[in-house]
Parts: sequence; structure tokens; C-alpha cells
Amino acid sequence: MMRLVWDILTDRTSLWVRWSKAEILKECSLWRLEPMQSHSVTWKSILNLRAQVAANLVYSVGRNSSWSLWHDPWFQNCSLISRLGSRVIYDSGLSRDATISEVILDSAWIWPEHVGQLREISIACADIPIGQHDSISWHVKGRPFSFKSAWESIRATHSGVPWAKIVWFKGVIPRHAFCFWLSFHKAHLTLDKLQNIGMVQCSQCSFGCGQQESMNHLFFECPFTKSVWSKVLEFNICPIPTACSWDSTASWALGRTKGRQFYRWMRRVGLTATIYHCWRERNNRIFKHVATPPFQVVDRIAFDVAKKAALCWNIPDTPTNRAVVENWGIDESVFITDRLLAGSRETGFRF
Ligand SMILES: [Zn+2]
Repeated sequence: MMRLVWDILTDRTSLWVRWSKAEILKECSLWRLEPMQSHSVTWKSILNLRAQVAANLVYSVGRNSSWSLWHDPWFQNCSLISRLGSRVIYDSGLSRDATISEVILDSAWIWPEHVGQLREISIACADIPIGQHDSISWHVKGRPFSFKSAWESIRATHSGVPWAKIVWFKGVIPRHAFCFWLSFHKAHLTLDKLQNIGMVQCSQCSFGCGQQESMNHLFFECPFTKSVWSKVLEFNICPIPTACSWDSTASWALGRTKGRQFYRWMRRVGLTATIYHCWRERNNRIFKHVATPPFQVVDRIAFDVAKKAALCWNIPDTPTNRAVVENWGIDESVFITDRLLAGSRETGFRF
């Protein structure tokens, strides 16, 4: 849509621009056109976008400038009439349709001196060079419209969450990542939440420990899931904490799983797989009435992790990496096999 505004402003040769000028604008400036009920949805959107478009425009004023002095957003991306009000037009003695060229003489600015409101503009204009011709750019002088910068200018920007790189990373299994992402949002519908809203009568943990199912309990205070998680930590040669909970696991993940090293990548893959398979086992017990012992859940995790890790290549053959590879039952082909290539090729993933 911004592109259409740009096309009109730059008078692009297109049937749509010609039609718009003839049927919609009818000699009126885009900046002066008032929205009307009869306008199409497209044109209503275009008119609503004007302020955002104006914020991206860079006007280069020519000595015979034909842009509207009062209505074009040529000065600091804002029209003078919206900045100063319409009274200034009357005070200046210039017409409502005045062009910028009317305050330029011999390539110099000549603002009406008797209008106090224009004094500030006049001073600021001293720094605005006057060129040979009018030209308009997008975002940076001399550049045409760009979809990328247009998108950047309108999209809502948010600071990244600290856990983004441990949830969405190269080689992660998408369904595991999604389940892990839900955990960081505490969005799993655990039984304690369902009981609070009256959807279930009982919130007892489905792993038979007799305690209430909550996020912290499920990942990994519960003896069942804790035994699974402990095995995964053991495979990855990580110390097993005496007390586990979702909160402590999340802070461990933030501090101990980031990085490009293979063993750190394995920690991330191991954790995301554990969260996924424990949640899946919990669902199987509740909805399918099928229970699997912890060692089989570990087997499922090991299967997924090993299958993914087998796609790695050029992993440095260090004692830590070798122990991790052996613990998970990953094929040795992931290690550097050609000494000549060692150091010349980056550790990578064939994903
Ligand atoms: Zn439990």
C-alpha cells in the first residue's frame, strides 16, 4: 500500500496512477485529499497511511519547486499547515495553493519576515540546500522506495526475549521447539490451571506421585519427569541438581545451553526433547490411558536426539564431545575425520 502512495508521489507511469489522478485526486494534492465515504477500501487505506509514508520521505527542494508550501510534508516530514495551523497562511499573505518556489528567490529562501510563526521555519531552512530540481527519496536521500524499509517503518518492534535463541535454533525439531516455547510462556494447560477455571475436578499429577500438577511440578519436580531429566543431564555430562522445577530449569537453560559448541547444542536439543516427550507422556496417560515407564520415555528422547545429532559434521573430537556422543549412541562420523581439514572447516549441521 505504501508503494502505491510512492507511485503517486513520483508520478510513476502506470495505468493505476493515471486512473487515480483522473478519478480520485482530480487535480487535488494527495496530501490535501479528504477521506470520503465513496472512496474504495484501498483509497481509504492509502489516505490513512499518509503520515507513515511522510515519515519516510526525504524531499530535495528545487529552485522552481512545485510542491505545495503548506501541504506537502517537505519540512521535517510534516506539513506546515499541520505544524502551524491554517492561520499562518492568512498571516503570510500567500495563497493556500502556494508552492515552495514562492519562498525562493535566486536559489535562496525568502520567508515573509512579518510572520512570527514562520521565523523558526525560516531559520531552519537556512540549512536546507536548494537544488536544480525537485526530487523525492525514500528514507535516505537518493534512494527509491524499498519494501524492506517500508516494512521496518510500520512493523511493531519488540526487544527480543532472552530465551529466543535456546528455543529457536538451527537443528531444533520444530514440534519440540513449539512445546518448549509454550513452556516459556507458561502456556501448557496443566491440571492446576484447569481446576482453577472449573474444567476438571482433580489436579493430581498423572504420573501417580500424589501431588498437584503444575508447571513447576511437571518440569521437573515430579519424581517421574525428574528421573527422565536426570538421565538426559547425565548423557550430556551435566551435574544433576538436587531440586528441580521449571523455573530453575529455565534459568539453567539460559545460563548453560547457549553457544555454538556441540555439547551446548546437545544440551538444548536434550532439554527441548525432554520437555516435549514428558508432555506427550502426560497427555498419553490422561487422554489415551496409556502409561510408559521412564526408561522408555528416555529411549524416545534418545532416538530423536541421536537422529538429529547424526546430521552434525566436523565436530571437534574432544573428550567431552566424545563422551556425549557415546552416551547418546550417536554415530562417530560426526567427528572430524580428516586432520588436514580440521580447523579449516567450521563445525556444522547438515540440516
Ligand atoms: Zn508428579
